Amino acid sequence: MKAAFFHSARDIRTEETHDAQEPRPGEVLLEVTAVGVCGSDLHGYVFGDVGGIVNQEPLVMGHEAAGRIIALGPDAPPHLSIGQRVAIDPATPCLQCERCESGEPHLCLNLQFMGLWPYHGALRERMVHPARCVFPMPENISDVGAAMLEPLGVALHAIRLGKIVVGEDVAVIGAGAVGLLITRLARLQGARHVFVADRFKWRLDIAANFGADYVIDVSKQDAVEEVMRATNKRGVDVAIEAAWVAETANQCVQMVRYGGRVVVVGIPAKDELTIQASAARRKEVPIVYSRRMKHVYPATTDLAHMGLVDVDALATHRFTLDQAKVAFDTAADYQDNVIRSMILPNMK
Ligand SMILES: [Zn+2]
Ligand SMILES: [Zn+2]
Repeated sequence: MKAAFFHSARDIRTEETHDAQEPRPGEVLLEVTAVGVCGSDLHGYVFGDVGGIVNQEPLVMGHEAAGRIIALGPDAPPHLSIGQRVAIDPATPCLQCERCESGEPHLCLNLQFMGLWPYHGALRERMVHPARCVFPMPENISDVGAAMLEPLGVALHAIRLGKIVVGEDVAVIGAGAVGLLITRLARLQGARHVFVADRFKWRLDIAANFGADYVIDVSKQDAVEEVMRATNKRGVDVAIEAAWVAETANQCVQMVRYGGRVVVVGIPAKDELTIQASAARRKEVPIVYSRRMKHVYPATTDLAHMGLVDVDALATHRFTLDQAKVAFDTAADYQDNVIRSMILPNMK
């Protein structure tokens, strides 16, 4: 079978590799149907590492994925069957460590995460995966929509950390897929005004469709000034950072009200953030870092199934596995009004 291997910065190649093994107890064999190219993948693709993790040999990336079950290991759970379309949770927590036992499996001390060194990801035709980490999809969620449930889960976790209550003002910096999904969820959560800042007009147009009522084009306007002007210098209740640039977390601190909350979701290009200490201290701003998500697939599945979040709208581009490099370049270089590049490993 084929898989797309990441070799080094800007070098990803689709190559022949050995086929997936037979599923063991507790596993399923999947034909991979769709894989989204995430900002964190692009981080690795452009810079060669993600948050300090460096690959030691060619790595199969891809953690936003959907598939179809083609074989079940012994003792498969009764809700799974061959032919079923599923969303794939890329994280396999151990369920035994202190954090897992404390209800924080996303902070598992022994976490295995596919697509991040040393665990291969979904950019291949077939893969085995733990049965407990696949979630059956209803008919009305497409394959690319099922792959989008992973970033939707990231957005859901971030929005929950923001603890927005009805009538609060929210700002989202960065209108990539996760920022747009956060925008939509902030609206569902009952935000009064939702400000979204980005440097690309096409993204801001989608942000408006997803519920933003103030969009700020940061190629022309200053995000902090615009938010402070629109809120009569009060600032927003919650500011959420969903970009991957260094200054945006500090912008969140500057635009949040006294006693407001800041949630940091993006992974900065350099592995550090600079915050103006006096502003953060005077406002007594809790700055919460968001790490991935908890057990949110049942909730994200329902949000998409009920039509509350249009996940398909963000899957803007489709590529074959052979076109993996084009898919990554399209997303990394912000070509052709892309939100999510989707690779369909079994599409010819
Ligand atoms: Zn992702
Ligand atoms: Zn654990």
